[in-house]
Amino acid sequence: MASNAAREKEAATAAQDPSAAAAAATATTVMNGPFKGRCICGALTFTIDPAEGAPLAAYLCHCLDCQRFSGSAFAHNATFRVADLTVEVAAGPEGAAVQQDGDGNDDTGAGSGSEIGGKQKGVPLEDQLSTYGDDVEGRMQFCRTCGTRLLLFCPAGSSSMRDKVVVPVGVLEGGFEDGRLAPAMEGWLKRKACWLRGVDLGLRRMGSE
Ligand SMILES: [Zn+2]
Ligand SMILES: [Zn+2]
Repeated sequence: MASNAAREKEAATAAQDPSAAAAAATATTVMNGPFKGRCICGALTFTIDPAEGAPLAAYLCHCLDCQRFSGSAFAHNATFRVADLTVEVAAGPEGAAVQQDGDGNDDTGAGSGSEIGGKQKGVPLEDQLSTYGDDVEGRMQFCRTCGTRLLLFCPAGSSSMRDKVVVPVGVLEGGFEDGRLAPAMEGWLKRKACWLRGVDLGLRRMGSE
């Protein structure tokens, strides 16, 4: 919560200082290193370390599922290779740190072990990570404690999605300050909120909807 408070203080400072606000609005920082994500309560954390240093895609999606899971007008998502993802249970019921080290194990509760499987060292991932959906339409994974949606897999979906994971940018640390995650495309424009239809962000159109 301290970091939230610090960010709110930053925002308040920018609001009082027009030059600081203008600088913040124009800054696009491309960060280095792996992407780190976490749920609200911190029980689940994950790291994505793509060889190319950037997501395969970052986009806005106005589809109904994205509106429902985000509770907002659209979702800002990024796509990565599943092979670049490691998920950790930061603290189990006894507070012990547990890591799923991603070497493949079918009984982690994360679906096929090739996705985010790992040796079980204490609290299994399945005790902390809830799953909704199926392998064809997509499996969404949430923190069982706080309900934050972290990951989406489609291991039996379209060939282009089978080895990919979709991550909501809002769960990535610094996601909205990192230029690598700035959206380049937007999809499902027919579901775009009525009050957004006149706003052109200059993004490429994704898909035909
Ligand atoms: Zn949580
Ligand atoms: Zn969507």
